[in-house]
Amino acid sequence: MSVADLILKNANVIAVDPVQSTVELVAIKGDKVLLVAGNESLESVRGAKTKVIDCQGKTVVPGFNDAHCHIFSFVRKLLSVDLSPSSVSSISDIKSAISQKAQNTSPGQWLIGTGYNEFYLVEKHHPTRCDIDEVAPHHPVILAHRSLHACVLNSLALSLAGINRETPDPPGGLIDRDLNTGEPTGLLFEMLGYIREKVLPPLSEAELTSGIALANRHYLSQGITSLQEATMVNDLSQWHKFRHFKDTGKLKSRVYMMPGIEALSQFQEAGLAPGSGDSQLRLGGVKVMPNEATGQLYPPQMELNQQVFDAHRAGFQLAIHAIEPSVVEAAITALEYAYSHLPQPGRRHRIEHCSQCPPHLLERLNKLQAVVVTQPPFLYYNGERYLATVPADRLQWLYRIRSFLNSGLIVAGSSDSPVVPDNPLVGIYAAVTRQTESGQPLLPEECISASQALAMYTINAAYASFEEGIKGSITQGKLADMVLLSDDLTKMPPEQIKDIKVEMTIIGGKVVWEA
Ligand SMILES: [Zn+2]
Repeated sequence: MSVADLILKNANVIAVDPVQSTVELVAIKGDKVLLVAGNESLESVRGAKTKVIDCQGKTVVPGFNDAHCHIFSFVRKLLSVDLSPSSVSSISDIKSAISQKAQNTSPGQWLIGTGYNEFYLVEKHHPTRCDIDEVAPHHPVILAHRSLHACVLNSLALSLAGINRETPDPPGGLIDRDLNTGEPTGLLFEMLGYIREKVLPPLSEAELTSGIALANRHYLSQGITSLQEATMVNDLSQWHKFRHFKDTGKLKSRVYMMPGIEALSQFQEAGLAPGSGDSQLRLGGVKVMPNEATGQLYPPQMELNQQVFDAHRAGFQLAIHAIEPSVVEAAITALEYAYSHLPQPGRRHRIEHCSQCPPHLLERLNKLQAVVVTQPPFLYYNGERYLATVPADRLQWLYRIRSFLNSGLIVAGSSDSPVVPDNPLVGIYAAVTRQTESGQPLLPEECISASQALAMYTINAAYASFEEGIKGSITQGKLADMVLLSDDLTKMPPEQIKDIKVEMTIIGGKVVWEA
């Protein structure tokens, strides 16, 4: 037996590996797991230079894998004015936060606010251009809704974006207008990408560098060792950015970058096949985002079928964003179309969110052997809103998990950060208890066990990126990505899972974070 570089002993190891029974010791050599065994094996792998950490009975689990998130949006959020429900509760709070930022920013510079959610504002409606004009007339201002599916611009920002009475709605987007005058109110739906591309200046080198450092620390403190990046604007330049941050060690968590469908040809021309890269940065599935913001499916079904088929034929995994039952159905139809023209089992096409999925669609998903990438923390952070606003006939199919697992589907867990906070233990808590932030139950019949929820954030998430052979469990020969927790999530009252602390994070055999 060779000698370990690092040994964790006296640990309560939850390996998420079906062949592994309870063990207390993990030995690591280089970036991989050398041995998972009982404490009695310590001497067989200890050498003169081996570092030994006594875990004092605390729990070690595989590193968390957030299967759907938005890294640069999170960076922007870290650098922007925080308008999330924990920071503001009214439009006047939003105004004073923006006003304060405006006073410290030179005129003409963009002000960005993120995370507002009109449902949690006392006014129960979105702010308007006029609200923002009052406090920041000389700065272009954009407020991004927490869902990233809506935003509000002030007058200066609207004019820089060339949006006025005469501007038609762009494809798939919607410009909210005053019913009497026809003037844009400032509220835009599904146009954040458009605004970003058209007028929003990219983060400067300095902003990006300081923002990535903040984000990196944050991810490690949450025990997140792998990130699956699901942003529609992911293109070749984003890929190079990630490569840079990986090569310079500024972003320690591993990244599975899913390119947007628009950028597919860039990757093909650059000779980057699906799965290209390495365990640090890998090219992932193609993101497609059909929506119904305008009341009808965009892109239309035929076009969606074609997009999906093109990516399928090129060998790429698909990652199709789908919220409403009709959009979930459109996604399924497109995948069925692709498979019927080119049957290839094992492609693991993904449905992102799959938020409202009635039984007949679940059956079709199963036939496709699709992977569902869900967001349990939505139940916790958005639950009150769902209970109040989602019609009963849809609420009954909302963010189902147990039915999916029982039917044999693989379900991966994620946060969609920065849409909601990304603490995986809150996600696991929410999947286990299905309680909203105020403790209301939300489809308790869809509860799952803590072990199942842990699997969603580890081995299942690794499966979603075709990487279950190299990570997702604490197994000899796999990458040594793991987390030391203050408590055992499988053996405590479920209500307390969200309060578990991450005490240490290890990536590729290196301790990268300690509480
Ligand atoms: Zn997302």
